[in-house]
Amino acid sequence: MTPKICEHYPGSYYVATADRMHDYPALMGARRADVCVIGGGFTGLSAALNLAEHGMDVVLLEAERVGYGASGRCGGLIGSGQRKDVLETEQLFGYERSRQLWDFAEAAKTEIRSRIAKHDIRCDLQKGQLVGIHKKRHVGWARRLTDALADRYDYPHTRAVGRDEVREFVATDDFFAGLYDSEAATLHPLNYTLGLARAAGAAGVTICERSRVLSYTKSDPAIVTTADGSVDANFVVLACNGYLGRLEPRVAGKIMPINNFMIATEPLGEERARQLINGRFGVHDTRFVVDYFRLSNDHRLLFGGGENYRRGFPRDIGAFVRPYMLRLFPQLADVRTEYAWGGTLSVTVNRLPHIGRLPPNLFFAQGYSGHGISIANFAGKVIAEAITGTAGRFDVFAELPVRTFPGGTLLRYPGMVLGMLYYSLKDRL
Ligand SMILES: Cc1cc2nc3c(=O)[nH]c(=O)nc-3n(C[C@H](O)[C@H](O)[C@H](O)COP(=O)(O)OP(=O)(O)OC[C@H]3O[C@@H](n4cnc5c(N)ncnc54)[C@H](O)[C@@H]3O)c2cc1C
Repeated sequence: MTPKICEHYPGSYYVATADRMHDYPALMGARRADVCVIGGGFTGLSAALNLAEHGMDVVLLEAERVGYGASGRCGGLIGSGQRKDVLETEQLFGYERSRQLWDFAEAAKTEIRSRIAKHDIRCDLQKGQLVGIHKKRHVGWARRLTDALADRYDYPHTRAVGRDEVREFVATDDFFAGLYDSEAATLHPLNYTLGLARAAGAAGVTICERSRVLSYTKSDPAIVTTADGSVDANFVVLACNGYLGRLEPRVAGKIMPINNFMIATEPLGEERARQLINGRFGVHDTRFVVDYFRLSNDHRLLFGGGENYRRGFPRDIGAFVRPYMLRLFPQLADVRTEYAWGGTLSVTVNRLPHIGRLPPNLFFAQGYSGHGISIANFAGKVIAEAITGTAGRFDVFAELPVRTFPGGTLLRYPGMVLGMLYYSLKDRL
């Protein structure tokens, strides 16, 4: 398949299979709105759509194109719970808070499913996720988590899977055991994002692409400025995540942007694809630098692996990711890589999301730490709730402790690189 060339989008498999892409005009001149949302990924679109459904006049400004960021490039795996599992959140916060965070993540899955149904978004939603355990000493974790979820979280949908059964799910010798979650899911992330944008537009949101925000005033109302226009708004929602750059120094030091990379193979044919992965569920492993993969509906392997911690991407992303794929699937040595791309996400020190409010009228959400599909969509919803007067769920997130990266925005990279190298070395031992 020849990659579709779409101005501003990276040449990914998702862009090549995008459904009903729409051009939204750039902001021109001065506008007035109740809320100005900055960023057209899951967070920004979800906030904008939920706000418009509450009757608010919303302008969304996206620097490039809707879904240009991580939302249109990611692995498409919708996990259950937060990035930290409930065994960890219970230890950190106690059962009650841990349960709230779990329930929010469940509500996040429901939000995505109901948006897909309500707006008829064709994004290849599939059920199921397998976690492949890559170290023998982690095997007991699957049983402990399964028991905790069934006993204390009313979630009977995971089960621990032994080595032989894992091998029936996925043709790799890399996994000692696994955890199968029948209510986790996968989707085509760009098509979901484009569908959310269509729904937001239909609900009355003014979406402006190619409208990079250069600055905003810390005043009430705020004046948000792009090269060709401005929006005068009572509230600002900052939804730039890994692409935030220097726009908001008050929150930039809480996140570390990380580049993560994916490839799509040539079509494997139905039979070979099925022999590789026995279903359309998503898979990720337990490595610190996680490998994640699934089959596309045209029988390719979509594989994510490898990351870097600097501003640029590797020159040859395909060559960078392939060794990760071949470590798990040496039998794919003869298979061509047809697409390779990367994107930028952001992580926090404790891998929990950073969601909050800055005076006088700015809301933000970022740092989903690789668990962004569900939590970013939900963050947009709870920000909309807070702006329209119901801050209960927003406050729970806003109270989560989030430390600044040592060294702040200037010096966080060297420390992070050392930390990441240490943990990826541990992965290999
Ligand atoms: C390769 C990869 C694989 C991933 N896989 C998964 C996965 O399988 N499951 C999962 O749950 N998560 C995954 N993630 C993480 C997930 O994609 C993100 O957490 C999520 O998409 C964040 O959504 P967002 O809307 O907050 O940010 P983004 O989607 O990154 O959107 C931010 C937007 O803000 C815009 N912007 C930035 N600055 C400005 C400005 N000044 N003015 C206007 N607009 C601006 C950007 O152009 C961008 O479009 C992955 C991420 C990557 C990169």
